[in-house]
Amino acid sequence: MTQPALLLLAQPASIFTLMPFKSLNLSEQVLRGVQAAGYTEPTPIQLRAIPVVLGGGDLIASAQTGTGKTAAFALPVLSRLGTHGRTRVLVLEPTRELAAQVETSFRNFARFTDIRTVAVFGGVGYGVQRSELKRGVDIIVATPGRLVDYLKTGEISLRDINILILDEVDRMLDMGFLPTVKDIIARCPRERQTLFFSATVPPEIAAVASFALRNPAKVEIGVARSVNESVNHALYPVAYDQKFELLEALLAKTEFDSVIVFSRTKHGADKIARRLKAANHAVAVLHANRSQNQRIEALEGFKSGKYEVMVATDIAARGIDVAGVSHVINYDVPEKPEDYVHRIGRTGRAQAVGDAITLVSPENAADIRDIQRFIGAKIPELRLEGFNYAPIIARPDQPTQQRRGQRGGGQRGGGYGSGGPRHQSGGGGGGPRQHQAGGRGNSSGGGGGGGRGEGQPRPAEGSWNRFGASGGGTGGGRRGR
Ligand code: AMP
Repeated sequence: MTQPALLLLAQPASIFTLMPFKSLNLSEQVLRGVQAAGYTEPTPIQLRAIPVVLGGGDLIASAQTGTGKTAAFALPVLSRLGTHGRTRVLVLEPTRELAAQVETSFRNFARFTDIRTVAVFGGVGYGVQRSELKRGVDIIVATPGRLVDYLKTGEISLRDINILILDEVDRMLDMGFLPTVKDIIARCPRERQTLFFSATVPPEIAAVASFALRNPAKVEIGVARSVNESVNHALYPVAYDQKFELLEALLAKTEFDSVIVFSRTKHGADKIARRLKAANHAVAVLHANRSQNQRIEALEGFKSGKYEVMVATDIAARGIDVAGVSHVINYDVPEKPEDYVHRIGRTGRAQAVGDAITLVSPENAADIRDIQRFIGAKIPELRLEGFNYAPIIARPDQPTQQRRGQRGGGQRGGGYGSGGPRHQSGGGGGGPRQHQAGGRGNSSGGGGGGGRGEGQPRPAEGSWNRFGASGGGTGGGRRGR
């Protein structure tokens, strides 16, 4: 079971005296906020980043969400601010969800101070944000677009900013925010502290960093290692036309708390959601074409347990923090290896362990190789016992799965189990997880329609092996935590 393991460590009586956060020189009020959040031990990124930020230096930290990076900057920044004053801190976030979430973290950690924060993002009216701004805030957490609106009207001035934080910089650049971000940086005073947080640091980021940062300290929390430690991965080879059927069978046979299913496209996400709903799953959908209110409703409903499955696209799901996401299912293989890391970062958050399943068709062979290279590990291939597999052969006519550029031709049929069934020999250290009967209607097949080869309902016999424990030879081993 995926539990927020760190929170389990919090034994109320002893928190404060034992709290190693105390040795980090955070202010007394901020320490109380940390205590109230239930954190006991700093995560590695917090241990390394907090002293740098407290010392006033610039920083480039490569760490993905899920490592505790928000607190790594929020705690020392709040300590440095001390009490309410002018608007001194600007945090830029690539998505509305992240802006809302990070602002909430700041507010929670600041609850024993008089420091005021505001989240500024698009898709919602200006009213509430305006009145917060008028009251006077110390910290603005913003997406670039809406921030620029307020800069134009003069409702926000960056004149007093002395700490500038760019979070998820890689994604911000991917989303085309570079010119706006550069403009915003240029409007901040030169005398300031600047912090960059990014899952990866490709050359474009190094270029922005060179004009935005001064002698930055570098903190790297290994992406590959953290991903491999916190998530049990598995590939499930399947014929393209059977993907939905396999998804349903996996959901029916898996003991999950909550699942995020990733689709490459908005249209695909809607389609998967429709079919899952038809099969009696409580489903939320998150993608950029949904209104802000729909997005908030989806996220809140998923957090509260109203929805057991969330179908999402990459950008929409970026950075969302939902405790207890036990499984991530990549219905479509992500286009970029970094996206694989971001997607599976939705499970195994902080120091809990999650499961990440990727459905793969032969067309995805090159993408999978890139992902394995990127995370520095081979992902085991598994088969779902009792699932009636059709032969897995490449579909040359499948445009969305086609590789970009030169690789196309050579991949056909290569790689993934195009031959006969590869039996997952169960066993391994993992210990099978029994399928929980009842609960969600496991009416596999469910009439969902679509595609040929859809099936007569198949009995969900057999047991579900928690993967990662017994893959195709490599990776292996359960992670002891
Ligand atoms: P982040 O990487 O900032 O998105 O954080 C991921 C999750 O870990 C969030 O749910 C945080 O509340 C949680 N978290 C961060 N730091 C700690 C800590 N030191 N102890 C326990 N939980 C933490």
